[in-house]
Amino acid sequence: MTASDQTTKTISLKDYGITHENIQYQLSPSQLQSITVENKMGTETANGTLAVHTGEFTGRSPMDRFIVEDTITKDKVWWGNINIPFSADTFDALHKKVIDYLNNKELFVRDCYACADPEYKLNIRVINEYPWSNMFAYNMFLRPTDNELENFTPEWTVINAPGFMADPSKDGTRQHNFAILNFTKKIALIGGTGYTGEIKKGIFSALNFILPVEKNTLPMHCSSNVGKDGDTAIFFGLSGTGKTTLSTDPNRELIGDDEHGWTSKNTVFNFEGGCYAKVINLSEEQEPEIYGAIKPGAILENVVLDDAKNVDFTNTSITQNTRVSYPIYHIDNIRRPSIGENVKNIFFLTADAFGVLPPISKLTPSQAAYHFISGYTAKVAGTEAGVVEPQPSFSACFGAPFMPLHPTEYADMLSKKMKESGVAVWLVNTGWTGGPYGIGTRMKLKYTRAMINAVLNGDLGLYSYDKYHIHSVFGVAQPRECPGVPTAVLSPRATWNNDQKYYTTAFKLTNAFRENFKKFESYASEEIRRGGPQRYGF
Ligand code: ATP
Ligand code: MN
Repeated sequence: MTASDQTTKTISLKDYGITHENIQYQLSPSQLQSITVENKMGTETANGTLAVHTGEFTGRSPMDRFIVEDTITKDKVWWGNINIPFSADTFDALHKKVIDYLNNKELFVRDCYACADPEYKLNIRVINEYPWSNMFAYNMFLRPTDNELENFTPEWTVINAPGFMADPSKDGTRQHNFAILNFTKKIALIGGTGYTGEIKKGIFSALNFILPVEKNTLPMHCSSNVGKDGDTAIFFGLSGTGKTTLSTDPNRELIGDDEHGWTSKNTVFNFEGGCYAKVINLSEEQEPEIYGAIKPGAILENVVLDDAKNVDFTNTSITQNTRVSYPIYHIDNIRRPSIGENVKNIFFLTADAFGVLPPISKLTPSQAAYHFISGYTAKVAGTEAGVVEPQPSFSACFGAPFMPLHPTEYADMLSKKMKESGVAVWLVNTGWTGGPYGIGTRMKLKYTRAMINAVLNGDLGLYSYDKYHIHSVFGVAQPRECPGVPTAVLSPRATWNNDQKYYTTAFKLTNAFRENFKKFESYASEEIRRGGPQRYGF
């Protein structure tokens, strides 16, 4: 600790096996930023924002994410290559090694919590090797008041040791990095990776087990906001489909950008206290709220600075997954506390790089269940020469890597909630138009926003034949007109100018849907199966 002349607190970690006292407890973001900069672990940008490099890992590593198989998890978790089992004994041995490793390091500790609804509050103690990871925990988790800190009893512990390298031959890991959840010990053990997303998604995964199993509450990988009339909207979607971008809307109060619970009281609460936005190609003009949130207190990850320490958001030389974390109060229009009621609309966001799904369509309850279990988006080809084909990517519940239970358990809960609350469900393609990736272009953000606004304002009108057209391949209801959007954009086929190519590509996608759905067929009801595409290429 070198940050000068600021008061600091300490805490004993003897209960955790840490015997030294070189522990910085509950430092302020500015203290952590100073320490990071003084230790040359980060730099300050021209406007005073901290910028760090997360090291070898600039994204999560789903193949190195394990769950300890114990009496709590054994019969409940959907084991496989998403939820990889880890033995309790192997965990104990590795845990001890990590503690030994941390036992001669200065440590940064933060007490915080998840879940904005007091009934669900989960107290968390985060123990970090690095000061900037601890600042991330300040940004992303909920911040207890001084009063709450007085009698704080941590329930879960995140142990985060990016510099610790596992030995796969001895430690039971796949390689040197790992993120392991232990429900008996209530520990998320993270090592060998400095990617901060592992910290927030570790607790998210824990909640995705705890809430449905113990609290009859549906956890969701979604963003959420609320309108002036108190109507709540939910945006599901895989990474990069627009959850953070589209929920940050100056006309609606932001509830949260990534993780929420939908309770049996029909309320929606944020798990987190901050946002974690992608900043690739970020512009002040297109996304002024997120741009404005990048100020002291925020942490930029893996961006490149110019000589004047300005961020070049177009530079992806470190990674495409450049990020910023900031406490939610960096956004002006937020709901306090982060709880909404009266869920009216659900959006399934998908970045369809085949460019064949309509930019907006309305789903029937069967289609909603089908698309939720499918969780479709596309991965665009990397920057390697010659690779232009997009890849379909399916992730159940729009968040399979974080869902310990079988996807149909979440899907059944969602279906029930949708029926009870009478929500409208919309499929929004934030991906390509005018052709597939390589030929067409990404849907203009202002059009997507206009379509979402039209839904939220009720401008899309009642569902009726003269207002909607049933898509011949996907079976979804496509509005014929939408304020603020050129009519031609609403029909993907029309934007292609080549019907044959359009249908060939659409069938390629429906075939991929069918192939993916096979593994759920035996679990899915006739009603859900009916929600799939209407036509396939044989
Ligand atoms: P994650 O789960 O990884 O946080 P996310 O769903 O929150 O992902 P965003 O951070 O919102 O995704 O990323 C969407 C990206 O796509 C942003 O960089 C945004 O600028 C860009 N984008 C381009 N066109 C659109 C569009 N039409 N709608 C939404 N986002 C768009
Ligand atoms: Mn996001």
